[in-house]
Amino acid sequence: MIRVTIWYEYVQESGELREEFLPKDMSKEQKAGFQEFVKNISERIRSVYPHGVMGTVAEHLKTCEDMQVTSVNMYMPEYGLPDQLLNETDVLIWWAHVAHDAIPDQLAEKIRDRVWKGMGFIPLHSAHPCKPLKALLGTSGSLRWREGDFCRVWNINPTHPIAQGIPESFELEEEEMYGEFFDIPKPDDLLFLSWYRGGEVFRSGCIWNRGYGKIFYFQPGHETSPSYHNPYVKKIIENAVRWAAPVMWRENLDCPNVLEAPEDKYRN
Ligand code: ZN
Repeated sequence: MIRVTIWYEYVQESGELREEFLPKDMSKEQKAGFQEFVKNISERIRSVYPHGVMGTVAEHLKTCEDMQVTSVNMYMPEYGLPDQLLNETDVLIWWAHVAHDAIPDQLAEKIRDRVWKGMGFIPLHSAHPCKPLKALLGTSGSLRWREGDFCRVWNINPTHPIAQGIPESFELEEEEMYGEFFDIPKPDDLLFLSWYRGGEVFRSGCIWNRGYGKIFYFQPGHETSPSYHNPYVKKIIENAVRWAAPVMWRENLDCPNVLEAPEDKYRN
């Protein structure tokens, strides 16, 4: 059984922004404007995802007999991810947007360390600059963006396990445009490439190995676009969970030097 934890930022959907999740240097006016934005967008999200953005993904993964799904969010104690849950997670899915900085550095480092030891990590859509991914990749994750465009997702690596059951390309009538330059280290492999009506292209499905862990970043999933209802998007996330599930664990992996060298049979 693959133990999947879906972590969701929840700020926009909650309709209220807690003081502790706001940047410390925000003025009173900026805070008021931000609160208003969050209040308005929560209604738009509910109209597209009545069970929540990640609720839709959780509903799909719960239909997979080989997965045990736990859904948490940042408004829960310990930011929804206490040590025990993190240590019992095989694959962590992460959706975040407006409060990346609210996550303590220490938690991001724990996630990074867990990936090094073998946990799979799947940051979705606006999680591109989230702290755990930055800690793993070492780059900003910045990109160009524009709301609401037609998107065609090209399957450019059809033999990869994550691409199984996915056609040559599929269409998303409305998705947020993410464009290059996407500030990431060169992926270990590129699975999907998105094209937008505005002419932009984007590396929308990228994988990396870090330590014994596998990472898959996937672009579709703007909170007011219906992408998570798309059967191919659901299938890709399902495939990615199976691909990212750990094949072995190294509980004491502090650095590669801890691995014991085999006896040198050829000396003398
Ligand atoms: Zn978005």
